[in-house]
Amino acid sequence: MSAQFTLKLEEKFSTLLSRYPVKRSVLVPMLLFAQDEYGFLNQEIVAEIARRLGLTVLDVEGVISYYSMLRKKPAGRYHLQICTNISCMLRGANSLFEHAQQKLGVGPGEATPDGLFSLEEVECIGACSWAPALQANYDFYHAVTLERFDQLLSDLPAGRAVPDTPPMSHTEHEVQVLTRRFDLPNAASIDTYLAHDGYRALEKALRQMTPDSVIEEVKQSNLRGRGGAGFPAGMKWSFVPKQSSKPKYIVCNADESEPGTCKDRLLMQNDPHQLIEGILLAGFAVSAHQGYIYVRGEYRYLIEILDRALEEAYARGYLGKNILGTGFDFDLATHTGAGAYECGEESALLESLEGKRGIPRIRPPFPAVVGLYGGPTVLNNVETFCSVPSIILNGGQWYASLGTPRNGGTRLFVLSGHVNRPGVYELPMGFPLRKMIEEVGGGIVGGKQFKAVIPGGSSTPVLTADALDTPMDFDSVAKAGSMLGSGAVIVMHEDTCMVEAALRIMKFYAHESCGWCIPCREGTSWLKKTLDRFHSGGGRREDIRLIEELAKNMLGKTFCPLGDAAAMPTISIVQKFRDEFEQHLTGQACPLEGRLELELASE
Ligand code: SF4
Repeated sequence: MSAQFTLKLEEKFSTLLSRYPVKRSVLVPMLLFAQDEYGFLNQEIVAEIARRLGLTVLDVEGVISYYSMLRKKPAGRYHLQICTNISCMLRGANSLFEHAQQKLGVGPGEATPDGLFSLEEVECIGACSWAPALQANYDFYHAVTLERFDQLLSDLPAGRAVPDTPPMSHTEHEVQVLTRRFDLPNAASIDTYLAHDGYRALEKALRQMTPDSVIEEVKQSNLRGRGGAGFPAGMKWSFVPKQSSKPKYIVCNADESEPGTCKDRLLMQNDPHQLIEGILLAGFAVSAHQGYIYVRGEYRYLIEILDRALEEAYARGYLGKNILGTGFDFDLATHTGAGAYECGEESALLESLEGKRGIPRIRPPFPAVVGLYGGPTVLNNVETFCSVPSIILNGGQWYASLGTPRNGGTRLFVLSGHVNRPGVYELPMGFPLRKMIEEVGGGIVGGKQFKAVIPGGSSTPVLTADALDTPMDFDSVAKAGSMLGSGAVIVMHEDTCMVEAALRIMKFYAHESCGWCIPCREGTSWLKKTLDRFHSGGGRREDIRLIEELAKNMLGKTFCPLGDAAAMPTISIVQKFRDEFEQHLTGQACPLEGRLELELASE
């Protein structure tokens, strides 16, 4: 038996079909939109989607089972997802989750008997600077105290709940390049954009430059990928072959999911045309004519903002055929993910965009040569593309001069954890870490002692007080023994149990491992179990060495960087905080258990 689509779903389906050269790409967005409509993915709707896309039900089931947002049983009318990942944990999220279970009388994954609420403990929802955070359906609520949670339980059904919009933070140290339009009235509209340099870089490139000179300018700027790896953007673009029998593509990675990271959402929320212009410039530089913005599924409101901006750009002639009368054609569309950290890895993202499970591809060939639908593909992060219009307008040298040698420009640093003023700040590359914590972040909460910092998102090794004078650029942080990664700076004070921090990080990677390679699948799962046992007082002295060895055995032995991402912070925590592991050997519970939670929950 097959289901009928509602009118709304029919419209979605035909819009989606017109976006992709391959029908199957419709699958993941269509499943998510159908779930929004019917509450869950029942057998009939699954069969109907499979039929329309020429797939088997088994194919579709395989995809559903991969993405954490897709569900096959009904959730409550308000599906409450509480993040307990590292940044939220540091601000008391475990207390919040405990409280939510008691208040609702349900366990994780359960719904209240009246069907009003369901509860889920989730991995990072990209609200790290405003922790602890929860998501009710697609709406975000920040700085959720126990009192605010209780209030939400009455406000949501009464239609009184007002979701939070994440703010950009300011400091006297900021240098505004990417964020200079954020505070203007109606900042996301094309009129505001056009009144403040908008699309001038595109005009300059199309009328006065060649594709090669655009690439050259980006090379000169020392712009390095802001997603995590820090690969020089101009060099990446130059790898795209000039001649290709297959169409070329530009894909924007807006699947921001690295714990600690919540900056790309501000760029899309406040200045979507800057992103569109950056993608257009990349398209011109490599002679591509089609692009996609792959947005993480949780960020539904951003897809609406981006879709409105795309409509405006088409209406004013900045997208579509013969852009600005120059003969350059470019089409751009959004694409929603459905909850999978692994899809932030570029080849996994391409698989996902093609409507499959997000399993990474074996490389080489790299996406610049064989990417989306087999065509050469430029894949960059949101912040990377957003940096390009200013580079083209003001010159690569100007941009390079804002940062340090080989690390051009500014970047959005995400401060979270135990600082007084967590937030997203635009600072020049090379800004000193100590100053970032003490002056920008306002120092450590409660006047406590600094203990450790994760400088670039949860996959990067921790640094301790001896590294506080490190300039925050890719090369200096690497020299200090870690990575700048996504610029997510997670600060921990003296009451943080580092065994618990290692456990929470490993829990995330064990959850997100796609399971393809054994060292990652087995390693993350064993490490999670061992750290859990250790943290609850059941550890043995030999486990300390075992944890370190298990992690080392994953390094460099997996198809994608997730294995390394799980191993690196673990190794650094064991090496730098061995004494804390020793303290857990008394057979008692963690000596710091509860201190963090109580302190922050009662703030
Ligand atoms: Fe999958 Fe982990 Fe292997 Fe990456 S490293 S491909 S996530 S199993």
